[in-house]
Amino acid sequence: RIAYVNGRYRPVTDTAIGIEDRGFQFADGVYEVWSVRAGRFLDHEGHRARLERSLNELRIPLPVGFPALDVILHEIVRRNRIEDGLVYLQVTRGVARRDHPFPPGPVRPTLVVTARALDLKAADARAAQGVGVITRPDLRWKRCDIKTVNLLPNVLAKQAAREAGAHEAWLVDESGHVTEGSSTNAWILTGEGVLVTRQTDEKILWGVTRLAIKALAEQEGLRIEERAFTVEEALRAREAFITSATSFVTPVVSIDGRPVANGAPGSVSMRLRALYLEAAERV
Ligand code: PMP
Repeated sequence: RIAYVNGRYRPVTDTAIGIEDRGFQFADGVYEVWSVRAGRFLDHEGHRARLERSLNELRIPLPVGFPALDVILHEIVRRNRIEDGLVYLQVTRGVARRDHPFPPGPVRPTLVVTARALDLKAADARAAQGVGVITRPDLRWKRCDIKTVNLLPNVLAKQAAREAGAHEAWLVDESGHVTEGSSTNAWILTGEGVLVTRQTDEKILWGVTRLAIKALAEQEGLRIEERAFTVEEALRAREAFITSATSFVTPVVSIDGRPVANGAPGSVSMRLRALYLEAAERV
């Protein structure tokens, strides 16, 4: 595998970042993930725009221009011969003597881009079966709308899910409402047929896939409410699902070991998944 690191393409195993990189020391950096299908980026512009927003929020300059970034993204796909997979990008504030405030002098931000293949057949099989989620308290900071590499609460929640034999952890805020999954947005379809997902506040990452699915659902004439829902409401729902760049739409069939509806993937969830993947093939 080939990685891009600060201007050079190198084998992943032959790259290095300084030990005083602020990403390593303070999680002072942002990241972005694109899905690649049949060699093409999904929602390319949405992820680029969110990267720009994350960088602006933390006042980290991108060390290359956006046109050059585009070249790097395509080059990393080409060099790794990715047909179906993902591209991972990370920008940190750079290497400087360890001290909490921003470095006083000009520091070149660290830019790393990698790519890897994903097994789409396994993902499709997972979606066809549906996945289980567990619930966990949301222990994260108050700016989850910024896509920072500060992911320790997400890591611990995902690990708890895996240890419980579940696929994802839904994070629950202090008022008992689901914020989102540890690496996905959370949705339900109520008994009345209303699609519900949390409003884009500072407690969730504004998923690019979330936005695309919202647009597709509107085209389908579905009623959508952007609001928080509780675990109890999700357990009474007709369907539930998660969205993310790499999982698209994946039905949720159990929450904390209790079935959602009849415990099988819902038809609206599966239809939205199919529509999203069809739309991806058309661009
Ligand atoms: N929430 C969190 C916490 C995430 O990490 C992700 C994946 N990056 C998402 C939601 C889904 O976002 P997207 O659809 O842009 O991948």
